[in-house]
Amino acid sequence: MAYVVTDSCRGCRYTECVTVCPVECFHLDAQMTYIDPENCIDCGGCAPMCPVSAIHPSWQMPADKIEWVAINRLRAAETPVVNAKLPPLPGADEQAKGLAS
Ligand code: SF4
Ligand code: SF4
Repeated sequence: MAYVVTDSCRGCRYTECVTVCPVECFHLDAQMTYIDPENCIDCGGCAPMCPVSAIHPSWQMPADKIEWVAINRLRAAETPVVNAKLPPLPGADEQAKGLAS
């Protein structure tokens, strides 16, 4: 199982989610975060923290986001752990407004 970060995270990377994860399963590249499905304990704490609703449980993925289950597994294995909040990427607030409208 595990929770999954989708492309709604891309370009904003607020990292609110990272601060609540009890098992440090978030990973990071220059664009977005990914959840390591091997470490995620399905606590659900991260999903409501995300201001752009980018995180979904793998068993309740929107139909057009299912590919992100495999992408999270792949990219989490290739990228470093992030366990502290970072400054959002430039343009993050504008992207969040666009996703909310
Ligand atoms: S809080 Fe949401 S937008 Fe921010 S890094 Fe986490 S998943 Fe991405
Ligand atoms: S569901 Fe819990 S364990 Fe899994 S990534 Fe989110 S905060 Fe971490």
